[in-house]
Amino acid sequence: MAENPTASAPTLAQRLEAVETRIANACARAGRRREEILLLAVTKVFPASVIRHAWDLGLREFGENYVQEFETKAAEVSTLAGARFHLIGHLQSNKSRRAAELFQLIQTVDSPKLARRLGECASPLDVMIEVKLSPEESKYGCDPAGLSALIDVIGSQSNLTLSGLMTMPPWSDDPEQTRPYFRQLRLLADRHGLNGLSMGMSHDLEAAIEEGATIIRIGTALFGSRKKA
Ligand SMILES: *Cc1c(COP(=O)(O)O)cnc(C)c1O
Repeated sequence: MAENPTASAPTLAQRLEAVETRIANACARAGRRREEILLLAVTKVFPASVIRHAWDLGLREFGENYVQEFETKAAEVSTLAGARFHLIGHLQSNKSRRAAELFQLIQTVDSPKLARRLGECASPLDVMIEVKLSPEESKYGCDPAGLSALIDVIGSQSNLTLSGLMTMPPWSDDPEQTRPYFRQLRLLADRHGLNGLSMGMSHDLEAAIEEGATIIRIGTALFGSRKKA
């Protein structure tokens, strides 16, 4: 069941309204317009019925982390008019062909090898580069020092359109700890003449908007906790 509205569990519609209020307040503080920011609904772990419900409420852009997981839902959401699906999880190059079929935008291109593989898929595809701004071993992403080379490789693939940069800072529940990473991503994008900035999640979307985000990736604040019962 997609929704179980009780006094303690807000509905998706209520959560969406709360998120929109937070976005509006952040925009007002930052002197930005709401239309500058894309709300990407992150639906990993949740079933296709949740995507359909979100679409009913007007959401059109969805983020998924795993090629295999989305494969199981894709047929059920393929009829949703205007819906676009972004891959926001790490992509192994051996899954690039399938990913290019399933997703309209791949936010996590992080190596020349992956860019070339996606280039071989021929179908037009929007991509972003995931940038790794912290030395944590577990994080994927292109090192800032390798960014120029990767941008060149993407530019040489005629089917790929690069729309910007994405990052996933080290986890902190304090948005002021992640703000410097957002700022750093924006500086990198400016330096390379890129406009798109995918940054900010449920707990730090305000800081991300203040630092220039054009895509915020929101899961928990819309759909609740992903923890298994
Ligand atoms: C899960 C996920 C999100 C959403 O995180 P929430 O804190 O639930 O909003 C955003 N971006 C990426 C890359 C994710 O994997």
